[in-house]
Amino acid sequence: MMNSFEKGKLLVISGPSGAGKSTVIGRLMELRDDVCFSVSVTTRPPRPGEEDGKDYFFVTPQHFQELAEGGYLLEYAEYVGNRYGTPRGYVEQRQLEGKSVILDIEVQGAGQICRNCPDAVSVFILPPSGAELERRLRHRNTDSDEKIRERLLQAKRECAEAGKYGYIVVNDDPDAAAREVNAILTAEKCRAADRLNLVTEVLIS
Ligand code: ADP
Ligand code: 5GP
Repeated sequence: MMNSFEKGKLLVISGPSGAGKSTVIGRLMELRDDVCFSVSVTTRPPRPGEEDGKDYFFVTPQHFQELAEGGYLLEYAEYVGNRYGTPRGYVEQRQLEGKSVILDIEVQGAGQICRNCPDAVSVFILPPSGAELERRLRHRNTDSDEKIRERLLQAKRECAEAGKYGYIVVNDDPDAAAREVNAILTAEKCRAADRLNLVTEVLIS
């Protein structure tokens, strides 16, 4: 029985607001127990029902600035007037424990991660159509009309970046989308470059 340690992967999930990232991530986490979710820090105020420490760590702009300047964030970016960032310590610790860490982040942050960590796995979640994206945003009922218009404009800009990602998954049915992301992560964990140590074990045993 091989017992070589495998460091967890970084699984970067992006896509326009309302594409269904949180929904797909939730389903993926039900499918496998070797993944965990990185809770980001943000200067955005909480939406009704959001919990500090579960959905986000809600911080003041000044606290955010201190975290960024202190090197405590793996990446950070501004999105529709608010700042968002990934706490470095949590991600690095869980990867060392063998867990793959899921980052739900926008395209600028994803670019920073992919430049700094070339073996990160990046997936763009695409809605089936623009009209369906608008329907989901309105149905979610968490943003004002003006915010929804802003997010739809931003969505077009984001979808134009989808080709920079390793994979594109269309979220028509959320279970099917989660199964595709699950398959992508499984395949990425089997990359030969990450498993050459297993070959060595066979050769010396
Ligand atoms: P994001 O995290 O990308 O902003 P959410 O996961 O919050 O998106 O989904 C936005 C809204 O669309 C939610 O109300 C969610 O229940 C709904 N939704 C997500 N995936 C689907 C889907 N495949 N079909 C229909 N509605 C969906
Ligand atoms: P929302 O306000 O809808 O929760 O998130 C807005 C956008 O910010 C989404 O595209 C989400 O993926 C992104 N986001 C959330 N956390 C982070 C983060 O830590 N870093 C970056 N770069 N983007 C984030």
